[in-house]
Amino acid sequence: MIAENQTKPIACWRGKERYEGKTLECLTIIFESGGCSWAKCLMCSYRFERYKTKSCDELARYLSGQLAWVRSQFSLDEFSMIKIFTSGSFFDPNEVPLAFQEEVAKTFRGKIVIAETRPEFVSRSTIEHFRAELDNGTYTTPLYCAIGLETTSDPIRHKCINKGFTYADFTKAAEIAHKAGAGVKAYLLFKPLFLTEAEAVADMKSSLTALAGNVEMVSMNPCTVQKRTELESYWRQGAYRPPYLWSVLSIIRDAPVEVTCDPLGGGQKRGPHNCGTCDYDITRGIRDYSLTGDRDLIGALLDMDCTCKSEWEYVLAHERPYCMPLTR
Ligand code: SF4
Ligand SMILES: [Zn+2]
Repeated sequence: MIAENQTKPIACWRGKERYEGKTLECLTIIFESGGCSWAKCLMCSYRFERYKTKSCDELARYLSGQLAWVRSQFSLDEFSMIKIFTSGSFFDPNEVPLAFQEEVAKTFRGKIVIAETRPEFVSRSTIEHFRAELDNGTYTTPLYCAIGLETTSDPIRHKCINKGFTYADFTKAAEIAHKAGAGVKAYLLFKPLFLTEAEAVADMKSSLTALAGNVEMVSMNPCTVQKRTELESYWRQGAYRPPYLWSVLSIIRDAPVEVTCDPLGGGQKRGPHNCGTCDYDITRGIRDYSLTGDRDLIGALLDMDCTCKSEWEYVLAHERPYCMPLTR
């Protein structure tokens, strides 16, 4: 069935993803949905993207129109993997009506779907139902619940991100997803607000160690400065600097699990960056690594020389933590 009201999603693009040692053709779709139920994370501007309606039927029609647009623009046979984002949580029934979740599962039957959601929306019945509609026996694990855990540290997730859930909430959701036959992908945020470069590196390293063996996929997102966020206002005052690409390389090289990374905005002042001279090669190298898993490439990039490398080393050694008064 082709909906008449075709509407372009927020974004939709083709790419490649590494999966179980192979490279798969992947379609990434960001649907405009009813909006994030939380909408309070300090670095996030997606929370402002929402379709304003109070009617569940209207929202479902609007989302169907976006899926119709995707079908009209892409030949779905070309893709083995579909990554789905909304402006919040795909499995939140108030944000993405169940009828539309079902339509998505039917449309992408036989493929691997990675759908992003907050942990409170991972329920056994929802995941089992979606997985059953999706599964035609091609893949052992056709569905992955992707959760923006950001860090395994509760104080950092609370104070520096304001994420509104705990590590225990995440592990409970991961257990439910696994029992329902789905895999789990964790998104980690590298260098949230208020952390020094060295603190951020240490936080990412301990998060990767804690997750090893507990989730099937880990993706590290080096923080970018998005518009109209609290993070942006600190950045404008000179109180935040996005992470160095050198740090990203050092984390990937030493990671106890395979971690993928797409340094969005790499080399730009709002994204992870070094000095401007070495950024392009490093960003491209990190993307290549995400497709091949070739850590030697990461080691070689880290051995590269650039005048900004000593600056990065100095920052790691001397930057001091953000000082907040303990009392008022
Ligand atoms: S990061 Fe996710 S949970 Fe947080 S406000 Fe943005 S969309 Fe909502
Ligand atoms: Zn440089």
